[in-house]
Amino acid sequence: MRIIVLVKQVPDTTEVKLDPKTGNLIREGVESIVNPDDRHAIEAAVRLKQDRDGKVIVLSMGPPQAVDAVSEAMGMGADEGVLLTDRAFAGADTWATSTTLGKAVEKIGEYDLILCGRQAIDGDTAQIGPQVAEYLKVPQVTYVFEIEEIREKSVIVKRRMEDGFEKVECTLPALLTVIGELNRPRYPRVDRLIDSCRDKAPIKVWNAADIGVQTRDVGLEGSLTHVVKTFAPKLQRQTEMLQGDARTSVKGLIAKLKEKRLI
Ligand SMILES: Cc1cc2nc3c(=O)[nH]c(=O)nc-3n(C[C@H](O)[C@H](O)[C@H](O)COP(=O)(O)OP(=O)(O)OC[C@H]3O[C@@H](n4cnc5c(N)ncnc54)[C@H](O)[C@@H]3O)c2cc1C
Repeated sequence: MRIIVLVKQVPDTTEVKLDPKTGNLIREGVESIVNPDDRHAIEAAVRLKQDRDGKVIVLSMGPPQAVDAVSEAMGMGADEGVLLTDRAFAGADTWATSTTLGKAVEKIGEYDLILCGRQAIDGDTAQIGPQVAEYLKVPQVTYVFEIEEIREKSVIVKRRMEDGFEKVECTLPALLTVIGELNRPRYPRVDRLIDSCRDKAPIKVWNAADIGVQTRDVGLEGSLTHVVKTFAPKLQRQTEMLQGDARTSVKGLIAKLKEKRLI
């Protein structure tokens, strides 16, 4: 069984700040981590591979330092890692990101399952999984919290719904987006981390030419949407104190609420 896991390196968002002048994220000095949902996807893939004869390939698109996220996944038990990095990939919206990841999956070749996190904690769109599935024309199941059974030509999973769960059988190959309830990710093993940094388990680094994409189809140029402005909302309190005894203040309050059409 061949499983591809999509892994994104994200800034530890509890520490992220916006530059008030440019509106860009201040990334300098901010620690990067593997996107939390993706650690559950890696764990699921490693368990599936252990139960049957399998191979786990981790795929990430990001700047050169995103190699750390791929290394961490290999430390957790993935067999191969691919980092997509090229200046041409910079500034990608979700469409361009999905196209790039989809092209790389095609280059990797055969697979039975693609696992990815439901959502990244920085971009936060939850669009990549579904879009990669659409690009590759494979069925998708989102919000997976249990992989119940892998059959010869299908997978049976449970997906979280607002008021319960849904059990789905889906033909393979398929793409699943997973949530944190799925499992408890293991810590990376130090010896495997060291191997991933040496040449024992080399991480492949591919650029735009390696996956056969034109620069106009990826990154900022290939993006269908562009961020015009980023800003943090300004919080303003407009407090008004109502004077007088309780009866007068309540009457005043009701009049104000009516005036603002709130009651
Ligand atoms: C309109 C728009 C414009 C943007 N412009 C820019 C920009 O100019 N510069 C910029 O840096 N960013 C930009 N972004 C952010 C960038 O598009 C997203 O970070 C990226 O496409 C992934 O989307 P997401 O973070 O919402 O992932 P989600 O869809 O929330 O992620 C779901 C899962 O997909 C997988 N995944 C997501 N991204 C990757 C990846 N890179 N590699 C491997 N797996 C991945 C992971 O498994 C993840 O858990 C823009 C986003 C939008 C919506």
